[in-house]
Amino acid sequence: MSKGEFDIIKRYFQRQQVTDDLILGIGDDCALLEVDSGYQLAVTTDTLVSGVHFFADVDPYRLGYKSLAVNLSDLAAMGAEAKWISLAITLPSVDEGWLSEFCRGFFALADKYQVQLIGGDTTKGPLSITVTAQGVVKKNKALTRQGAKAGDIICVSGELGDGALGLAAKLEHKKLNQAHSFIDKLELTEPRLKHARLLVDHASACIDISDGLTQDLQHILTQSNCAAQIDVDRLPLSQAMRNEINLGMLSEQQAWQYGLSGGDDYELLFTVPADKFELLQVLLNKQELALYAIGKILPYQAQRSHNPQLIIEQDNQPLTLSLKGWDHFK
Ligand code: ADP
Ligand code: MG
Repeated sequence: MSKGEFDIIKRYFQRQQVTDDLILGIGDDCALLEVDSGYQLAVTTDTLVSGVHFFADVDPYRLGYKSLAVNLSDLAAMGAEAKWISLAITLPSVDEGWLSEFCRGFFALADKYQVQLIGGDTTKGPLSITVTAQGVVKKNKALTRQGAKAGDIICVSGELGDGALGLAAKLEHKKLNQAHSFIDKLELTEPRLKHARLLVDHASACIDISDGLTQDLQHILTQSNCAAQIDVDRLPLSQAMRNEINLGMLSEQQAWQYGLSGGDDYELLFTVPADKFELLQVLLNKQELALYAIGKILPYQAQRSHNPQLIIEQDNQPLTLSLKGWDHFK
C-alpha cells in the first residue's frame, strides 16, 4: 500500500500476544506457530466483499466483528478450538476513524475467544476483507460432513431464520415490528465455539448454517450418503420471530421459509447418534448452551430416485414447500 502501510499495521493490527503457542507474530515474512503433538491443524478462509457481503456504509464495528465471526464459525463446525487468525484487508483509503472501529469489533471477538492475530496483508483498492482462521483439533476427531448415519438425531445449536429476516429488513426494507433484533442476529452473530468443545466427542457430522438449513443439511446428506426427515413444528423460532407472527407482520409459513432456507444464522447443524443424545443434552444444558432436535437421519438409496433425500414434515405428513438457499452464482 502507500507509505503509511507499516504505520497502519503497527498502529491497528500489531497487538499484544495472548497465547504462548505463537513463536513469531506480526513483523516478519511468516508467522511461526507451535502445534502440540496429537493435534491437527484446521484452516479456513472467508472473504467479505463490499456490495456483495455487506453494504459499503455498514457500521465498521459490525463489519470487523462479522468478518471474524464467520471464520470462527467454520472452525466450530469442525469441532476445532480457534487459535490464530490472519487478516488481508483492502482499503480504498486510510480512514482512521473507520479503521479503529473496524478493529474494535474485530478484536472484541478475538479477545472473547482468545484468538491471536498473527499476520496478514494491507493493500489499497475496493474494500474487501479476507480472514484466514486456524484452529486445533485432536487427531482424527474433527467433525466433518461425512459421518451421519441412519438413526442419528438432527440438531441445531440455536434459533433459525432471524439472520435472513434481518437481511430482508435491510435489503427489501421488509416491514417488521422489531427489525433491529433480526439485524443484530445478522451482524453480531455468535460463533458456536463453546458448542464445538462438546460436540467434538458426541456428534457424528457437523456444518455451520451459512446458506440455509435445507441447503447445508443437503451437504451432510450427500457426503454421508443418507436421507433425512425434518419436522417443521420443531424448528426453533425466536421469540422475536413469534412476535412478528402474532402481530401479523409474517405468516407462519413465511417464518418456516426463513427458518428452513434463510442463510446467515451461523448456527451449527449436527447429527448425534441416538444413544449419545441424552448425555450431550445434559452437558450442553449445564453450560446453558442450546440444543434443538429437529429431525432424524434415514437410510438412502440413490438409485430410488422417487424417494426424496430430504423430507420436510408436519404432523407426519410431508409438506411441499419451494425452498432455496443462497448460491453466489445462481
Ligand atoms: P510481506 O511483504 O513480507 O508480505 P508485509 O509488508 O505485507 O510483509 O507485512 C508486514 C508484516 O505485517 C507481516 O508480518 C504481515 O503478516 C503483517 N501484516 C500486514 N498486514 C496485516 C494486517 N492487516 N493484519 C495483521 N498483520 C498484517
Ligand atoms: Mg505483503
